[in-house]
Amino acid sequence: MNLVGIGYDVHRFAENRALILGGVNIPHTHGLDGHSDADVLCHAIADAILGAIGERDIGHHFPNTDPECKGMSSLEIVRRAVELVTEQGGRLNNIDCTLIAEAPKIGPHLEAMKSKLAAVLSLEPKRVGIKATTNERLGFLGRQEGIAAMAVASVELP
Ligand SMILES: [Zn+2]
Repeated sequence: MNLVGIGYDVHRFAENRALILGGVNIPHTHGLDGHSDADVLCHAIADAILGAIGERDIGHHFPNTDPECKGMSSLEIVRRAVELVTEQGGRLNNIDCTLIAEAPKIGPHLEAMKSKLAAVLSLEPKRVGIKATTNERLGFLGRQEGIAAMAVASVELP
């Protein structure tokens, strides 16, 4: 049975934080605010996977009141979502996602993000789609107040 899930996340920029996207540290004037490493891309991907297999969202599985989640790498959150697929006897087919940010430029980091995510997702890098777009300077994303990410996951369950 082929199932799909959707994920969306947004984090605001904050000073004195590292910017981590897809598990990759990206040099920028600001990082993202959050309880974990605030990796907005990983969060959207994890939610897409959880949605595909009918699980509750990452806020349920990784509550931001849990001290164990504080500062944790969000690649671990993705890894846990993949484990839940495996526990149901399933496997991922592919992931596709879009980052929405005016800055920084994502292009130079895409391949690094793909290979990090592919390893955690147990997918070929070709099965991990990552696109980046701006918000045409419109709204909160256009004012560079944060970064948003959307993701879909396709899962094969027995
Ligand atoms: Zn998040």
